[in-house]
Amino acid sequence: MAKVNIPTFKMNNGLEIPALGYGTWLGLDDNLKFITSGFPQLVEALSYAIDIGYRHIDTAHLYRVEPEVGDVINKKIQDGVVKREELFVTTKVWHHYHRAADVEVSVRASLRRLGLDYIDLALMHWPMSISQDGVDEKIDYLETWRGFESVLHKGLVKAIGVSNFNLDQMKRLIANCEVKPVVNQVEINLNLGQSALVDYCQSQGVITVAYSPFGTMVPSRAAPHSPEPKMDNPVMVALAKKYGKTVTQITLRYLYQRNIIALPKTVTKSRVLENASIFDFTIDKSDMATLAAFDNDYRTVRPTFWQDYENYPFDKVASKMDIPIDLKIWKNGANADIE
Ligand code: NDP
Repeated sequence: MAKVNIPTFKMNNGLEIPALGYGTWLGLDDNLKFITSGFPQLVEALSYAIDIGYRHIDTAHLYRVEPEVGDVINKKIQDGVVKREELFVTTKVWHHYHRAADVEVSVRASLRRLGLDYIDLALMHWPMSISQDGVDEKIDYLETWRGFESVLHKGLVKAIGVSNFNLDQMKRLIANCEVKPVVNQVEINLNLGQSALVDYCQSQGVITVAYSPFGTMVPSRAAPHSPEPKMDNPVMVALAKKYGKTVTQITLRYLYQRNIIALPKTVTKSRVLENASIFDFTIDKSDMATLAAFDNDYRTVRPTFWQDYENYPFDKVASKMDIPIDLKIWKNGANADIE
């Protein structure tokens, strides 16, 4: 069987984090309903990912796949493929659990669903606090962070971090925390370079983790009027040819060379291997500059339905939609897997 060798970065708490992870968000369909039909493919692809050497798995309460992800992990441990301490499992706390005490409730529920006795990295999924009914709870993310510090001190998690924090929010958090976040997980791809945010985080010893690393480049995510580069972009195709790699591999390698951890999601086995086969070549300086020039501040993930909530981290647009029900309420209406 093919194997991949994924290097690690050192976090500001002294622990290691693999420099590429497996993303487990299956997304919403055209009707904004959660895609549950993909569970069997996810289980198979994640199982294969661990077999070939992935060690970093990114999930979240929201994704509704923690039980499946946990089953795969525990099976691989039982089968002797991997030891628990060799894996790095991230999960996230959703908007409804931003009171400091609720962070522990959410983390304990994730542990139960995953069937694990600790989580490697727990993230605040977004800086906003919103109830299941869509009420803006206006809980300061600094209060929520106290809850994260508490689960860290209790040993439920080995590291704590944030996601979707903008530059001002990162500065305020870092100025007012007891424990620094180890990562900020945000969208980064060729269209959204986020250089000011990445530079600041790196200057503070906070690693940037990139979600949606392909943006709208891949056909499955293509959006009307979304900018270049697409998979058939001549510049990208020429670079792929020059390095003997694919366009998606060039994209992921570019992020790695910026010291950013990418979380590509795929349920396609051949792509699982392809996406992690990026640690055996180097993009030269002038090609890095060519790739950087695609940055045009275009966001693939723009949840306008949250834009009027306190602490929404992105700029607002003129028209917004309602919050999709599947992003508010799940498990028969009450997130019933959380007591
Ligand atoms: P990605 O950029 O990973 O894109 C996923 C899409 O790309 C899928 O349609 C997949 O298809 C396709 N794909 C993957 N690899 C290849 C390849 N080599 N060639 C061609 N197509 C490919 O986007 P996501 O939005 O899924 O982000 C990745 C992960 O980041 C998520 O799974 C999640 O873990 C995390 N995330 C975190 C967020 C946050 O708020 N913190 C928000 C969004 C994502 P297929 O599966 O059919 O192969």
